[in-house]
Amino acid sequence: MIPPEFDYTAPDSLDGAMRALAEGGEDAKVLAGGHSLLPLMKLRLAAPTLLVDLRRIPGLRGVQREDGSFRIGAMTRHADLQVNGELGVVADAASLIADQQVRNRGTIGGSLAHGDPASDLPTVLLALDGTVTVAGPGGTREVAASELFIDYLTTAVGQGEILTEVRLPAMDGWGHGYEKFNRRSEDWAMVGIVALVKKAADGSCEDVRIGLTHMGSTPLRATAAEQALRGQGLDAQGIARAAEQAAEGTDPPEDLNASADYKRHLARVLTRRALEEAVAAA
Ligand SMILES: Cc1cc2nc3c(=O)[nH]c(=O)nc-3n(C[C@H](O)[C@H](O)[C@H](O)COP(=O)(O)OP(=O)(O)OC[C@H]3O[C@@H](n4cnc5c(N)ncnc54)[C@H](O)[C@@H]3O)c2cc1C
Repeated sequence: MIPPEFDYTAPDSLDGAMRALAEGGEDAKVLAGGHSLLPLMKLRLAAPTLLVDLRRIPGLRGVQREDGSFRIGAMTRHADLQVNGELGVVADAASLIADQQVRNRGTIGGSLAHGDPASDLPTVLLALDGTVTVAGPGGTREVAASELFIDYLTTAVGQGEILTEVRLPAMDGWGHGYEKFNRRSEDWAMVGIVALVKKAADGSCEDVRIGLTHMGSTPLRATAAEQALRGQGLDAQGIARAAEQAAEGTDPPEDLNASADYKRHLARVLTRRALEEAVAAA
């Protein structure tokens, strides 16, 4: 449980952090809340020789609403998100991450750059069709959620790059539901579901988004279930029919908690519940 030796620096500017990362080369790592990286180091599954801490860089923390969307600094902690009712499903998901100690340190940028398919916020970003800003030696670029999560713990944030900001549409007029299933309340999701529903004037489903946590090597969208509900009635039968398709095309990893079949079952049940919540709130 003791990590290998490493050097540490906490620059006070983004440029300084990128210089430090460039000098440290492939063994340098960004440090945000440390609640994924430090456990990996203690287990000797990661052994960076230099940690570049972002905590002293101004402007990386906070939530601002602008032109129908939210801009969230990468160093904004889960604890800041969970108390911000304006953020809707983002706040709901953040409030269910681990326990308050983890939420007091873990950051949205760290969670998204790390790309754990069992984590809550990557699925929220995907369901909301959000984007992240990534700064690197060649300048900054916007990366859409659909391009960010490449494989298990592998994201489009490259070596020497820093995820600086998250942009999420405000989803005004949409209802949301969030369902997370685990054995103990502070555990990662066995399966988690984000549902967002927009009702048409006649009460049918104008649009719908469904995100799946821990149903593959990256967060996923339940596109078959979305298609089954879009344009249809939002009564109990319509929701149940769509939810039956929630696990279509998924390849959930088996672990000590759940077989792949059990996870597919959970996805169907939790999607129905999350859709019901979203429809009631829409
Ligand atoms: C006991 C426990 C339970 C947990 N349960 C859950 C849970 O239920 N749900 C959940 O979603 N999460 C859970 N987590 C993970 C937690 O949310 C982490 O805080 C989060 O995944 C990573 O954020 P961090 O700020 O701690 O990142 P760090 O650990 O500091 O970094 C993680 C990785 O991302 C990189 N990185 C960090 N920030 C940036 C950035 N801005 N730009 C580029 N790269 C960056 C780091 O180099 C590192 O590779 C749990 C953690 C613990 C310890």
